[in-house]
Amino acid sequence: MKKIFALLFILSLLLVSCSNTPATDSEHANSINNTIDYNDYIISEGIFTWTKAGIYTVSDQKIYHLNENNEWNILCLDPSCEHNSPTCSAFLEPPTVIFSYDNYLYYFNNSNGVYNLCRMSQTGRDRVVIKKLDIPSVSASSQTSTFHISSNILIISCKTYEADNTQTTIYMTTLDPDTQIDTICSGDVSLYKLTRNWLFFVENSNNLATLYAYNTETQVKYAIFDNFTEIMPFLASVYLTEDFKVSWVLMNDGFYQMDLVTGEKQLLKSADNEILSGGGCYDEKYVYIVNTNPYLDKISGIEDEEKGLYIYDHDGNYVDYLSTKDLRGYISYAFATEDYVFFVNILDKPMLANYCIDKKHIGTGDLKWIKINKGR
Ligand SMILES: [Zn+2]
Repeated sequence: MKKIFALLFILSLLLVSCSNTPATDSEHANSINNTIDYNDYIISEGIFTWTKAGIYTVSDQKIYHLNENNEWNILCLDPSCEHNSPTCSAFLEPPTVIFSYDNYLYYFNNSNGVYNLCRMSQTGRDRVVIKKLDIPSVSASSQTSTFHISSNILIISCKTYEADNTQTTIYMTTLDPDTQIDTICSGDVSLYKLTRNWLFFVENSNNLATLYAYNTETQVKYAIFDNFTEIMPFLASVYLTEDFKVSWVLMNDGFYQMDLVTGEKQLLKSADNEILSGGGCYDEKYVYIVNTNPYLDKISGIEDEEKGLYIYDHDGNYVDYLSTKDLRGYISYAFATEDYVFFVNILDKPMLANYCIDKKHIGTGDLKWIKINKGR
């Protein structure tokens, strides 16, 4: 009997030490479910990126990697390096965004006003230009471009400012060197998000804003909301829970699902509009809503004791709550992995995810904030 107790004690110690360590080791990487790409659940596209070998983020033109000891490290091993020139493996020029696909990290550079799609290894080395992005260029001051990658699809959104006319063109290509660039739409449009082979964008026409889901394979677009301006302040993003099925939460209303093919919308569960506000995000199992926000706090009327992280299942059933009362600053969802969900303090600089929760604690009564530190 004594032996069993000793064994249980050691096992429990092991479990505790594991729970504080978001695993990024190779053993864990092999066990990750191959069917899920956690990049599908990132809201701030280009700031964080998930790979089976770990998480990367970019802040202040430097790439950081989350190591197996739960620390963010600059992606450069040279102790004498200042990390501020292209010779550094952590350095990124504007536009400072980073994506991953097929064990590589993708980024962009700007050479005399022309953008190139570039690729590096997961150590930040072996950098190569994949292709020139041949899109009409105007002077830099009258144009802003944003880049979005999901799987091997690359979307470029170019907004052009002219005296009496501002218009946006959304282009699509792939990460392959030989794929040409196609125009998806142009006019008074704005890109909302890219998930798998679905591009969500808003089109304004006759004072009506419509949110569309566009399938990049079939090239068919489906209208989700034609009153997007009204619902936007209450909308916790839009997620693809199955192919051709989108889900969303309206903070003042409820949890919804829509079949894109039939156009049928279904209210799954009413939301508690006394406590829900701010932003939300899905992963493959749960919906995470954090109701603290420096911009909404003054108008939301939510009491301090009710501020925190609220977790629901995809059907809108309440699962768990974790207060943010003792945390510094404003906490917001960053990204998820198979085992952990990561959060960022949005006022931090560099903005590295500094808290996570262990998914196996959700709904058990043991949910707690786990601190993430900055390494070298
Ligand atoms: Zn360096």
